[in-house]
Amino acid sequence: MNTENSKKLFAQAQNTIVGGVNSPVRAFRAVGGNPLFIQKAKGAYLYDVDDNAYIELINSWGPMILGHNPDFIREAIAKSLENSWSFGAPTHIEIQMAELIASMVPAVEKIRMVNSGTEACLSAIRVARGYTGKSKIIKFAGCYHGHADAFLIAAGSGAVTFGTPDSAGVTQGVAQDTLVAEYNNLEAVENLVNANKNQIACIILEPVAGNMGLVLPKKGFLEGLRALCDKDGIVLIFDEVMTGFRLAQGGVQERFGVKADLITMGKIIGAGMPVGAYGGKKEIMDCVAPLGKVYQAGTLSGNPTAMSAGLAMLQYLKNNPSIYTLLDSIGEKLVNGMKSIHQKLGLNYTINHIGSMYTVFFTDKKVDNFIDAQTSDTALFGQYFRAMLSKGIYLAPSQYESLFFSTCLTDELIGKILFAHEESLKEIRN
Ligand SMILES: *Cc1c(COP(=O)(O)O)cnc(C)c1O
Repeated sequence: MNTENSKKLFAQAQNTIVGGVNSPVRAFRAVGGNPLFIQKAKGAYLYDVDDNAYIELINSWGPMILGHNPDFIREAIAKSLENSWSFGAPTHIEIQMAELIASMVPAVEKIRMVNSGTEACLSAIRVARGYTGKSKIIKFAGCYHGHADAFLIAAGSGAVTFGTPDSAGVTQGVAQDTLVAEYNNLEAVENLVNANKNQIACIILEPVAGNMGLVLPKKGFLEGLRALCDKDGIVLIFDEVMTGFRLAQGGVQERFGVKADLITMGKIIGAGMPVGAYGGKKEIMDCVAPLGKVYQAGTLSGNPTAMSAGLAMLQYLKNNPSIYTLLDSIGEKLVNGMKSIHQKLGLNYTINHIGSMYTVFFTDKKVDNFIDAQTSDTALFGQYFRAMLSKGIYLAPSQYESLFFSTCLTDELIGKILFAHEESLKEIRN
């Protein structure tokens, strides 16, 4: 496969863009090789600047649940552009969007639109702190909530309960207010809560985690967190930036039947435009300015172009609930196909899967948390990634990511992916 133009652009990009990319994982550092520069996309396919076509299993890291460039969304954007694209004043479409989200997502009584998942999550913890008057938050190792200081915290050593900065530029002062627990370990959370009585404002988590590879909540984990929060007056925040509108119309809350107090959203909500949102119980959301004392604002928040894309997407999802059954059946075919290939080749890799999300972990250990995920052979994953790419299958360039597919995966494309999977595994074993 010729990727000369991508190579040239990557060399040029590095002169003026840090690392050549505007978000680190795009640089392919975890897997080796040069990132591809993309020219266009349609349906299940990405096309790079060398005119290679790839079947796509990231879909812009989630938003493109209907595949790339659906005609009706492009038309909605074009129509909205005729009225110009930013006013910094309220518009009707923001109300339509808010009402639609409230009708689809459990526990959302009031909402605020922002421009990214990061913004949604950093705002949600501020609101939780403002509402409870408490300072500390609990997050889970391996969960990602965007790049705000409070989230870039690693677990402290066993002897200390507070976290340590996980990025240069994050202060110890911030780190001491973020406590880090192990995913799927309810007892660890209970211990943190008991050791910090009346100091915890919120527990924030990916209720199905996709940022350490895909990790599902064990039976009772979400219910246990809910009960713990109710008992101690802690705000439960589900970060559904990835899972919202993907695992069901109402995200994990609907699929697992557990309600949060605040929900953060992103990705699909903007259909590929930069949109995020946070919402939840009226009583908590009414703490936000201009009604309450928690300040949060945005020059471009609720941008009409972005809202027109998001509204078209969410209306489609609401009117076509059968797409979730379709995505589930695509997932079954794909994952069952991979499992039988592994069996045939005598491989025992762990596959975690739900709906339209899955990760093949290059480990034979069951993966229920970040420590388990880190038993994966990441060098082998890099080889697998490059083998798949050379066969025209574009995966997320890291072992610690969930893959996402769209409704565009026909049986024929599933067959192609499975064929490439088997060939790639055979190749990297030799
Ligand atoms: C992508 C993601 C974010 C961050 O969203 P951005 O739009 O990249 O800022 C936050 N939480 C989760 C669960 C995500 O997957």
